[in-house]
Amino acid sequence: MPSAPTQRVTVLVADDDPVMRMLMLEMVAQVGLDGIQAGDGIEALDQARTGQPDLILMDVDMPRMDGFAACRAIRAAERDGVCVPVIMVTGSDDIEAVTHAYEVGATDFVSKPINWQILGHRVLYVLRASDAIARLRIADAQNRAVLAAIPDTFFRLNADGFYLDYEQGHERPGHERPGPGGPTRPDLPDSAGARFIGKHLTATLPPDIAGRMLEQMKAVLTTHQVRSVEYELVEAGVAQHFEARLVATSSSEVLGLVRDISERKRTEEQIRRLAYCDGLTGIPNRQAFLETLERELHRSRIGNKKFAVLFMDLDAFKRINDTLGHNAGDQLLKMVSERLRDTTRPSDLVSRGDGGDVNEDGASNLARLGGDEFTILIPDLERVEHALNVAHRVKEAMRRSFIIEGNEIFVTASIGISLFPEDGDDCVSLLKFADTAMYHAKSCGKNNAKLYSSSLTMQIMSHVKLEVGLRRALQNDELYLVYQPQRDVRSTEIVGVEALVRWRHPERGLIAPTEFIPLAEETGLIVPIGEWVLRTACRQARTWQRLTQRTLRIAVNLSAKQFKDENLSQIVLSALLDTGLEPRLLELELTEGTLMDDARATMVTLERLRSIGVHLSIDDFGTGYSSMNYLKRFDVRALKIDRSFISGLPQDSENAAITRAIIAMAHGLKMVVVAEGVETGEQLLMLEEYGCDMVQGYYLGHPSGAETITELLQVVQLVLPAR
Ligand code: C2E
Ligand code: MG
Ligand code: MG
Repeated sequence: MPSAPTQRVTVLVADDDPVMRMLMLEMVAQVGLDGIQAGDGIEALDQARTGQPDLILMDVDMPRMDGFAACRAIRAAERDGVCVPVIMVTGSDDIEAVTHAYEVGATDFVSKPINWQILGHRVLYVLRASDAIARLRIADAQNRAVLAAIPDTFFRLNADGFYLDYEQGHERPGHERPGPGGPTRPDLPDSAGARFIGKHLTATLPPDIAGRMLEQMKAVLTTHQVRSVEYELVEAGVAQHFEARLVATSSSEVLGLVRDISERKRTEEQIRRLAYCDGLTGIPNRQAFLETLERELHRSRIGNKKFAVLFMDLDAFKRINDTLGHNAGDQLLKMVSERLRDTTRPSDLVSRGDGGDVNEDGASNLARLGGDEFTILIPDLERVEHALNVAHRVKEAMRRSFIIEGNEIFVTASIGISLFPEDGDDCVSLLKFADTAMYHAKSCGKNNAKLYSSSLTMQIMSHVKLEVGLRRALQNDELYLVYQPQRDVRSTEIVGVEALVRWRHPERGLIAPTEFIPLAEETGLIVPIGEWVLRTACRQARTWQRLTQRTLRIAVNLSAKQFKDENLSQIVLSALLDTGLEPRLLELELTEGTLMDDARATMVTLERLRSIGVHLSIDDFGTGYSSMNYLKRFDVRALKIDRSFISGLPQDSENAAITRAIIAMAHGLKMVVVAEGVETGEQLLMLEEYGCDMVQGYYLGHPSGAETITELLQVVQLVLPAR
């Protein structure tokens, strides 16, 4: 026999037959329970109320009130779901009575004649079951309390996506009540769950969201792992997080949990805004611009539209920062961005006919990339002129003075423009090309706007091509030297020649050094090219010396890059040794800039060159900036007055005065003076009058091939024998 519960348990025995009552009480006592009794229905009702029995054994036939009526009355008096088990004692095989007993709320029945031993068991089992039900009820109440306290909404779905139940999340003050399908109606607090049960997910949510949820659900059913998805219910203005997991007791049901994440999304949006905003000016930053550009690119590709990227840079921002300080610089940038914002309102930028899809925040087409660089996106471009108009307006807006800390400041802007799809079809290229065009605008004299036209591309392409060609020029023997005579002013005898390099390009023909020397410097190719020039010139000078028995000085141009090359003296020395030319017959031409760039390093290099025994002259003198004091210390042999001073002579009195002063000064420092670019007899006369030592120029001989010079030397030799 099962053991009795440990707590005292009371059983009410209601029967009008005293013998029966006694037998039942005896049985109750035998299974370890306490018994109380009632002789009819009314008494039973009374005892049920006052005695609080844990179980009632109720005879059906009783005077005053029968067992059915008593059971019904007991049930009616019960509160809070508490439910005392009632076992009805019916006549044998009285099926009708059994049915009736259940109808009035009986828990179980026994029929007469009673098997006392079985009844004992029955009583204990009914008590046990009733106890389990009571505990379940408590747990359920607890669960409900917990569920009611958390904001999330729970529901179960079957494998096909139909709601099996639904527990609405609680409403937080001031917030919309979340749940799939958006806020529920406040007037339906209790029906919220009922609305969903039996419905399919797709009936309660927008189809795309329901689709995504069903997908996760399927994944949960196959993988048995937790899956989640976030979505936004645009109409309701809420963002939600849906999490699906397998119901612990079933492998074909999914427990769904929906959480309102609107607040988190709002915070994220705020953070995003901060990350996409330029801290100083408040307008979008580079990252934001790149994303706007990416979107515009996508939109324009689909819609087959054009747009322009404007890249603006202030022309003298650094100067303002340096002279007025960073505070003033910052203020200027803020004011500039405000003016740009005014100038680039969407209505001005967008030529869309439909008027739709315009950014509410006009400034989002505008961004500060950093420093004084701003970009503007011009969508839906119909004509290139429209972009140029915007650029013009921007330039005009910048031209009005800015008042900063009481100072009136004037700035100008240079603008580069790239176009989609003409110039490029990815964001990075478009931005880069607008930047390139901006630099082009700057190099054309600032306060300019330039398109990154295909011609600019061509220019760059040809630059690249030229570089490739130059790399091959040396190996392919495309370089050669011409020589220009340098003559003594009075005797006009050739006392030296300047070696000048030429490039015979296989396709483009002759290319002047003014075009390819800067490129050679940029690429570092000047070092091998310069070495080749040096050797070739020295060898040629040695040849002339042998042929004519004359001492002829050879001048070779050195670029700054060569001069800074550590191996310079080594290269010079080996050229001299290999060709057998005397060092004193080699003159290296340097510009003022090269010498003055780093006086200390120059000193070291010059010391080495001097120890070899070569001479030094200053080319294009007067165009740069040099200190006479240094020139003296550098032991410069000759100054070559730049052609620009000579070309105006004899009319240009200012240049005449400068030329005379240079000659006098150079002589004062015991330097020789060479005048470059002498083109007329008058110029030669004047220079002679001023006491210039040597002349070089078309009047006295064009740069020419070695043979021509050989002939010249031989003719001159005949006329003027070497002194
Ligand atoms: P530069 O050293 O001042 O050379 C003189 C330039 O003036 C030469 O131009 C020459 O042809 C030109 N010229 C000479 N007389 C007259 C004249 O009467 N009237 C006019 N209008 N021009 C005259 P080129 O050969 O085109 O060379 C230009 C520059 O290229 C040179 O200026 C020099 O700075 C550089 N360069 C030439 N060859 C070399 C070289 O081998 N190495 C380096 N680093 N630079 C070189
Ligand atoms: Mg020169
Ligand atoms: Mg020169």
